[in-house]
Amino acid sequence: MKVFLDGAFVDKDDAKISVFDHGLLYGDGIFEGIRVYRKCIYRLDEHLERLWYSAKDILLNIPMAPEALSKAICESCKINGIEDGYIRLLVTRGKGDLGLSPASCSNASVIIIADTIRLYPEDHYKVGLSIVTVPTRRSGPAALNPAIKSLNYLNNILAKMEAAQHGALEAIMLNDQGYVAECTGDNVFIIHKGTLYTPDVSNGALRGITRSAVIELAEKANIPVKECNLTRHEIWNADECFLTGTAAELIPVVNLDGRVIGTGNPGPVTQSLHAAFHEEVSTRGTMLE
Ligand code: PMP
Repeated sequence: MKVFLDGAFVDKDDAKISVFDHGLLYGDGIFEGIRVYRKCIYRLDEHLERLWYSAKDILLNIPMAPEALSKAICESCKINGIEDGYIRLLVTRGKGDLGLSPASCSNASVIIIADTIRLYPEDHYKVGLSIVTVPTRRSGPAALNPAIKSLNYLNNILAKMEAAQHGALEAIMLNDQGYVAECTGDNVFIIHKGTLYTPDVSNGALRGITRSAVIELAEKANIPVKECNLTRHEIWNADECFLTGTAAELIPVVNLDGRVIGTGNPGPVTQSLHAAFHEEVSTRGTMLE
């Protein structure tokens, strides 16, 4: 495998960064997780737009133009023979002195890894996940804004470990007010009486690319969509629930905190949105070549 590192493709084993990179020392950097389906890099422009938004928030200068980065991403897939897979794009603050200030970091590093990923076992897409709410809260927009896709995922990692302690593969994270924010690496949706609900991003949810795609697909199918405050009560009493994310794609949830959701099986709206999502993935994005 070849990894793109600061303008060149290097062997996986030689793809190394300095121990003085502030991305390592402080989690100072940003990233995107992107899927490629049948040679189509799904919604690449939207991922790049979000990367640039994250960079602006943390005053990070991405040392490549979006067009050059887009080309390097395509090249990474081609060089590694990835036609269906997952791309991890990182921009770290770069090498600097010890101390939090990024002033000593002159060059941000750009890293592109083109590989594959499987987040949940295949059968869970058919039978649905059983998940739990965990004590660790999602950081709010007034602290570390979850809209920034930063390299600092510690609170999500803690939440993931708390889920595992309860035998669950995923966790619902609440915000400081007790409203549902999202899961550790996925956005959350419910269906109740024919309407699709998802937490508003002001509740601490990342503006997920898959989340946006599902909202668009639902609107196209004339399913009413509401972005609002949700509590666990609404999830427990929903007809259907599912999670979305680039790596997760669209996965049903059939149980939260020991309460069966709906019939306890993936519901018809979830299934139709799942089908619509898979229909669009190889047609919407940037084609390799
Ligand atoms: N929330 C968090 C915390 C995430 O890290 C991600 C991405 N893995 C998502 C939601 C889903 O976003 P996207 O659909 O853009 O992958």
